Amino acid sequence: MKRSCPHCKSEMIEDCKVNVEGGMYGIKISQKGKGILNSISAKPKAAVCPNCGYVAFYIDEYKEFDR
Ligand SMILES: [Zn+2]
Repeated sequence: MKRSCPHCKSEMIEDCKVNVEGGMYGIKISQKGKGILNSISAKPKAAVCPNCGYVAFYIDEYKEFDR
């Protein structure tokens, strides 16, 4: 499934790394589970639109997150 830009419908370039400027640290998305061992975390990746510069964050582990 290819991601397309919500603004200009161009095909986005996926799998870009997300890092905080000035460091080796990336951003981490996490969700607290019911137990200590159940918490879920994922490192987001970025998709970039080469046409208008729109950036979208996404994770591959989205199925592990739930409401
Ligand atoms: Zn675009």
